[in-house]
Amino acid sequence: MRRLVIPIVVALLVSGHMWAQETPAPSPGAVKGDPYSCPVDGRKFTHPQSRIGSLQGGVDSDHCTYEGNGDWVLYSIVVCPRCNYAAIRDTFPRAFNPKQRQAILKATADSSYRGVTEAMTEIPPWERAELALKCSKALDEPLSMQIQYLHMASWMARVKAVRPATRAYPIASPILVDDFVRLIGRKVERADTPKEKNRLKLHTAMIHQRGGDVTERDKVLAELDQAAAKDPLLKTRIDEFRKLNVVEAGYQKRALELIDQRLAGEDVRPDERLMMTYIKADTLRRLGLKEDAIKTFREVRRLMRRPSQLRTMTDYLLTRLAPGEPLPKPEAPKPETPKETETPKTPEDPEPSPPAD
Ligand SMILES: [Zn+2]
Repeated sequence: MRRLVIPIVVALLVSGHMWAQETPAPSPGAVKGDPYSCPVDGRKFTHPQSRIGSLQGGVDSDHCTYEGNGDWVLYSIVVCPRCNYAAIRDTFPRAFNPKQRQAILKATADSSYRGVTEAMTEIPPWERAELALKCSKALDEPLSMQIQYLHMASWMARVKAVRPATRAYPIASPILVDDFVRLIGRKVERADTPKEKNRLKLHTAMIHQRGGDVTERDKVLAELDQAAAKDPLLKTRIDEFRKLNVVEAGYQKRALELIDQRLAGEDVRPDERLMMTYIKADTLRRLGLKEDAIKTFREVRRLMRRPSQLRTMTDYLLTRLAPGEPLPKPEAPKPETPKETETPKTPEDPEPSPPAD
């Protein structure tokens, strides 16, 4: 199982764009269903076809992806409406033995979503990830898979929270966040009505959420709170945005606990250690834990021995978090003892490739 799952996780983390080139983007408004048959109870159902299409909306620093049409992240987990077995789309169809089937049924026994008509519309996206996490634990999958599900749950909350801003201002790279904030700032200045100004300011808060800058996000929200006292619709939108931010942070905190557990393991490959440490650093930053984030980004920077996109991003984020501090020098690689059955591999920086223009 381990050999099957790790490549899938890495593919999800770093190679979404490749699927973009292979799979044509679905036409807007024409989301069809792929047929699925539940390997646990045989239930037949459909799941929306939307696969990662145009990455017009870019990729956040923690690899959350936004496509131009469809919501790949939200569609990425398939759930059986009857028994609630759940998994990432491509791993959902699997052959289980009776013991595994039983373990899944036991894990989802207390799910209040069992027997829904349509999992996609009746189960909140992060709850779908939560069900996949339960099944993953029941199947005794590697910790990295469980971390991935928590990570995906946090993405799902973010994708929903920032949707209006993503539609209005697609961001190809986290490095462009400041440009978009400035652009919206100019629009705010030119806006005719206070209502329009406030709508645009809320977009700014959403862009900061994507950029992972919770301090700036909260400054904008604090400004908006005064206006919201007299504008019930604005208040509803702000409340909903904040609620989703809390959901996102909750999953990020849980992911951090598992990441620490994983990093404490003895069998962590160098490329996995690098990626996990990077995700840990960025998650700490997104939670507003600045000092811990700096410390962890410095740690991951020392593991990056050759130029890569991930290193560029690390340098960018470190420079923002700790301006003027010199970047750490890469450490010499530790000698690895290759196993007899495995081809020794050089530590590589697993990196996300540039999003499609
Ligand atoms: Zn089922």
